Amino acid sequence: MTRAYNFCAGPATMPEPVLSRAQDELLNWGRSGASVMELSHRSPEFQQIARNAEQGLRDLIHIPGNYSVLFLQGGASTQFAAIPMNLLRGKRTADYVRTGIWSDKAAEQAARYCEVRIAADTRATGYTSVPEFSTWDLDPEAAYVHYTPNETVNGVEFDWIPETGDVPLIADMSSTLLSRPIDVSRFGLIYAGAQKNIGPSGITVVIVRKDLLGGAIPETPIPFDYQVQNRDASLYNTPPTFAWYLTGLVFDWLKGQGGPEAMAVVNERKARKVYEVIDAGDFYSNRVERNCRSWMNIPFQMSDTSLDSVFLSEAEQNGLLNLNGFRAVGGMRASLYNAVPESGVDALVAFMKDFEKRHG
Ligand SMILES: *Cc1c(COP(=O)(O)O)cnc(C)c1O
Repeated sequence: MTRAYNFCAGPATMPEPVLSRAQDELLNWGRSGASVMELSHRSPEFQQIARNAEQGLRDLIHIPGNYSVLFLQGGASTQFAAIPMNLLRGKRTADYVRTGIWSDKAAEQAARYCEVRIAADTRATGYTSVPEFSTWDLDPEAAYVHYTPNETVNGVEFDWIPETGDVPLIADMSSTLLSRPIDVSRFGLIYAGAQKNIGPSGITVVIVRKDLLGGAIPETPIPFDYQVQNRDASLYNTPPTFAWYLTGLVFDWLKGQGGPEAMAVVNERKARKVYEVIDAGDFYSNRVERNCRSWMNIPFQMSDTSLDSVFLSEAEQNGLLNLNGFRAVGGMRASLYNAVPESGVDALVAFMKDFEKRHG
């Protein structure tokens, strides 16, 4: 049986060498005599797995020493609450930049804990652009500024980092972390659910500047208090050990690929190939402004929407899986994370051209 090409937005495709290695190690990790799944999270074996994963991530994006790396549960959606709980630090307001469905959800949840100011907003124009920085209405008294560098549903991606001065910048990088180099020192906190570009679902990476720790409101659940998890090396309670192990294997694999610097070159090229087919005629379209089109998630529509289901079922018959758009948005979406091989993109592009020839 051959594996299909999987364009799912998340949980997304995993690098095949990682799955093979996990398969090899499944019954007996190292010389432990047990599966990783069966090891105590307090055992020296698991401590080694955990430390290696953290070091792998630190090496890949050059995380400075004054940042903690936490491996938590609850997904990015839980961070939508954990961030205000931990980072308000006595302040009453936080600034949110709304550029798509995920930043909207982040702002919605934060409003349970503080006054949310929408500092910039593209909702009225259908989330197809990145608001120019000069138009942002930032409050110097805000606890932090939150934005979503890559909007997974809308396919809008920043290729620049806002400069927010002394106000910590918080980024939901769930669908872009490790897809290209980033300067971690520009951020107060970066978070990402693993299941897009990092590993399997069930684990969430939080990279937080250490001076921001220690201010959680008393109502914060202890497993989501960054200070506690930093103190306990993310082992306050039982972590998702197997998912943590798999993310470590993905980091090893990524190092072998040349890291985010090398992935950026491939990712830019993969995305360009798909946008070229979309832009070649009127059959397919993508409404996102060209200067902020995502490399990772490419939503597209067909002029004749009655062809959507035909497209999706023919694609599946051709081994191209999960090209449907987000449930609330419809249309199609191709997610091209690091683990989607360029041969998969070439197969998708060939299929799209052929489909257009037959149905256009
Ligand atoms: C998928 C996604 C989320 C939600 O992640 P969960 O782990 O399901 O909570 C949040 N933000 C972004 C940018 C995403 O892509």
